[in-house]
Amino acid sequence: MAKITLDNLAHSYLAKPTSEDDFALKELNHDWVDGEAYALLGASGCGKSTLLNIISGLLHPSQGRILFNDRDVTHAPTAERNIAQVFQFPVVYDTMSVHDNLAFPLRNRGADPTYVAGRVNQIAKMIGMEAELNHKARGLTADAKQKISLGRGMVREDVNALLFDEPLTVIDPHMKWELRTQLKSLHHEFGHTMIYVTHDQTEALTFADKVVVMYDGRVVQIGTPQELFERPAHTFVGYFIGSPGMNLFDAEIDGAAARIAGVTVPLGAGYAPAKGKLQVGVRPEFIKLSGAADGVPARVKRVEDVGRHKIVRLDVEGREISAIVGEGSAISDGTQNITFDPDGINVYADDWRIAPEGEAA
Ligand code: ADP
Ligand code: MG
Repeated sequence: MAKITLDNLAHSYLAKPTSEDDFALKELNHDWVDGEAYALLGASGCGKSTLLNIISGLLHPSQGRILFNDRDVTHAPTAERNIAQVFQFPVVYDTMSVHDNLAFPLRNRGADPTYVAGRVNQIAKMIGMEAELNHKARGLTADAKQKISLGRGMVREDVNALLFDEPLTVIDPHMKWELRTQLKSLHHEFGHTMIYVTHDQTEALTFADKVVVMYDGRVVQIGTPQELFERPAHTFVGYFIGSPGMNLFDAEIDGAAARIAGVTVPLGAGYAPAKGKLQVGVRPEFIKLSGAADGVPARVKRVEDVGRHKIVRLDVEGREISAIVGEGSAISDGTQNITFDPDGINVYADDWRIAPEGEAA
């Protein structure tokens, strides 16, 4: 197992990049702590696979270094890095049996046959394929083949890190949950450094201790699910995580108050003067609809009943805002005043969160 360090790393697929836009991966410095389970979360095209392939050595970065336990492996081939990687689509040997596919990474390293037999059985159980061990991989469904790929990724206990690149895309929803649970228990058992790429927030938040959120080739926040929910470092994190995502209001900020749609709103904390596009972010969970005269006027557009609660869609100065209210609440049509729970307010300047005065760094 290893600590993995990204030092000044950046990557462009172009031979002669001229501007930042030419980089699929913008400059990045980060330590992946030995033994932690990370989710790498972001929309399609934001650079997740690029980063993973650089860590595994399938891709050489155009700038910077990668260190495993402080040893420079930037130019080391994949095989030397001792990493298991599972891709979005199955990579299996069609002519081999399920058993031999699973045994391959162990035999390849000269493992003892008794150990191989035991370990293959253990993994087959984890992926729910004990009954098919003697079948040839050819002819199995894509779903089954992907389970073999996952099993092959998990079979070696001596790897530096396990990398998963959207591995459950072709797996049916029930099995997804099951396999994710198995991956978690594997992590508890062996304590491998794991990086799990996904574009699905639920998958990321349920799998990982730490979520690394990427946006447009950049890591915008690394945090626990709770940190991402309560203190999104970038408006993208607020919008991407949560259902619905965080609301944004254009605002003027003056100390401990904001001016939104002509109304003064208390922020619950003071802010130093800031430059740029200023916005107040409030998650739907922290917005209240009230008759209070001091709220921000909002016009009710529609109410969606989603079971445990209702989502109210409102219009504030032409922008759609969402509020979550209790199942029992009656929502009248027309214009309401909305108020914010000060604990749920974050302030942004040019999309980056600014800390209120007195906040611990
Ligand atoms: P993700 O895995 O988050 O969907 P990728 O890392 O695959 O994102 O892609 C990041 C960006 O790099 C995208 O704009 C993509 O089009 C581009 N890209 C990916 N692979 C290549 C490649 N082999 N050649 C050129 N551009 C690529
Ligand atoms: Mg990808």
